[in-house]
Amino acid sequence: MIFENNIDFARRLDAQDTLKDFRNQFYIPPVNGKESIYLCGNSLGLQPKTARQAAEQEFLDWQNLGVEGHFHGTNPWLHYHEYLEEKEARVVGAQPAEVVVMNNLTTNLHLMLVSFYQPNTERYKIITEAGAFPSDQYALESQVRFHGLYPDVAIIELTPRPGEHTLRTDDILQTIQEHGPELALVMMGGINYYTGQVFDMAAITKAGHEAGAYVGFDLAHAAGNILLHLHEWEVDFAVWCTYKYLNSGPGGVAGTFVHEKHSNNPKLPRFAGWWGHNKEERFQMRKGFKPMAGAAGWQLSNGSIFPMAIHKASLDIFAAATMPALRRKSEQLTAYLEYLINDIGVSEDNLEIITPADLAQRGCQLSLLVHQNGRSVFDKLTQAGVILDWREPNVIRVAPTPLYNTFEDVFCFAEILRESIAG
Ligand SMILES: *Cc1c(COP(=O)(O)O)cnc(C)c1O
Repeated sequence: MIFENNIDFARRLDAQDTLKDFRNQFYIPPVNGKESIYLCGNSLGLQPKTARQAAEQEFLDWQNLGVEGHFHGTNPWLHYHEYLEEKEARVVGAQPAEVVVMNNLTTNLHLMLVSFYQPNTERYKIITEAGAFPSDQYALESQVRFHGLYPDVAIIELTPRPGEHTLRTDDILQTIQEHGPELALVMMGGINYYTGQVFDMAAITKAGHEAGAYVGFDLAHAAGNILLHLHEWEVDFAVWCTYKYLNSGPGGVAGTFVHEKHSNNPKLPRFAGWWGHNKEERFQMRKGFKPMAGAAGWQLSNGSIFPMAIHKASLDIFAAATMPALRRKSEQLTAYLEYLINDIGVSEDNLEIITPADLAQRGCQLSLLVHQNGRSVFDKLTQAGVILDWREPNVIRVAPTPLYNTFEDVFCFAEILRESIAG
């Protein structure tokens, strides 16, 4: 499509957008009495209007039924995670039994590392991306130390080539091959949170398996953003949060995927809790852990009903919109953003997009390197009612999401950016 840099064109694209009505299902935060231009769904997704009512239902059941809500609530609490399985699975391309919603992201990452990082004298290395999200770095380092090893020796970091901002797939695959016989695990983001680069998860998984290692991904920035096929790619495990693109509220529950080839293997080491125990026998309170089938067998505690209720409301929206349709709009929305930014960049020479231009290597986020006065540009954007995020030393991440952002949002953002850079 040939884009045009004017508001009528942006409005025409909005008028043609088959997903345009979904915006009305969200609260858009106001700034200075007007709707903000919210481009921060990669950090905290907006509130679905149905979220409060979903939580309210659970308040009512608790109020009216007390403990009986576990069995006789509108949505009996005992089985709550099961209500989310199917729609969650659709978002990440999994079989329903391969996913479970529980805990928070970093907790789930640790649980997965307990199962999938079992170093021995030959195989003990982990390959990950340099500059991974700090929580992932801390999780990997502390797991390595927990096994009595040294992070400097056991953790191999993938770095971009000099002068480049993102990783080349060939370099990733070659590093996996090089460390093959010593490699225990490849664990990295599906999308790097800083650059917005999407990694070739299918190729990385295949290479990891050929080397004899397990492969897992942190999908915090991928779930609800790009098309995922975790089952088909044979990814061993994955974890994600639901408060970013999945719009399920600050600190909401998180997702975990365990491929079916592992999820019914009782020999795989795991940390166990009563909620992962065979449901039929759970209340017999007996000794001897027998895991439930599937990813559900990794649950520890009885589910967090309120955040799960909110997440359920959000998943209903995803099921109605469908990931393929969201991705189609997202590609166009982000391509329009790219076109407008490049238009400014040419005249100002101060902007560089470090996210790959290749559609297969990016989701909705573009990361802008602002060479001069980045912080002041960001502050001006904020004052003008644009909500986005700033990452030291000079990156602005811009993430138009297809559920509630419009082409007009993107156009207005670019206009304000142009003015902010001009001074
Ligand atoms: C957002 C994010 C996290 C946050 O972890 P929590 O446990 O949810 O606080 C972790 N890893 C990545 C890659 C993220 O983007």
